[in-house]
Amino acid sequence: MPLRIITVPCRADNYAFVLHDDVTKRTALVDAPEVEPIMEVLNGHGWHLSDLLITHHHGDHVEGVEELHRVFGCRVIGARADQHRLPPLDIAVDVSDVEAVCGEDVHVIDVPGHTIGHVAYWLPGAQALFSGDSLMAMGCGRLFEGTPAQMWDSMLRLRALPPETMVYSGHEYTSSNARFALTIEPDNPKLISRVKAITAARARGEATVPSQLGLEMATNPFLRADTVELARAINMDGESAERIFAEVRGRKDRY
Ligand code: ZN
Ligand code: FE
Repeated sequence: MPLRIITVPCRADNYAFVLHDDVTKRTALVDAPEVEPIMEVLNGHGWHLSDLLITHHHGDHVEGVEELHRVFGCRVIGARADQHRLPPLDIAVDVSDVEAVCGEDVHVIDVPGHTIGHVAYWLPGAQALFSGDSLMAMGCGRLFEGTPAQMWDSMLRLRALPPETMVYSGHEYTSSNARFALTIEPDNPKLISRVKAITAARARGEATVPSQLGLEMATNPFLRADTVELARAINMDGESAERIFAEVRGRKDRY
């Protein structure tokens, strides 16, 4: 039985993810933006939360952590580097640690940029990556704490994962990300057809998260700063990937 992953819409545009393994009967949650919708999913299935993984310290990702911990006594897992500003952790993980959660190996990947101490969780056995506000569908998180060079490095670490990996990111920002991506690469055929698909999905009220990493590589401008196509599209041929990434991120901030 493969790991079950349920996307839970929370707040205005946040996502939490409930993971359940039918073999071990263990249930995990990635980020806790809001308690009620998460409780509804857990109660609806009769699942008891065993683990809660935190991607980063922002309130819209941790607000429900302490209450869920009180209710379930679940293990709270987060980055040791950010322990001073996260809710109390039961397991403080370091970069490259591997933890067993829901019968799966969970690899901790360092993805600074949006915040320093932001981590992503990669489950190779489930072909799933939980990226929080680092890599997002056709976008990446705003740089509140890190530099463009740090975020570009984070993007490269994630881009190195198998292309069939599904990317579960923390927000439904895809429509505006798509509009912006088209201003960067208006002639990218894969981008054009993806934007059509996204627009249709949103019109039907569907979530556009998760998305496949391979499709992100072909259409997400923040994963493409070292491609000739993107450099040419913004007249920065021959510039370093870091400078191109910084230019694209800057344009998004002003968009
Ligand atoms: Zn955030
Ligand atoms: Fe967020």
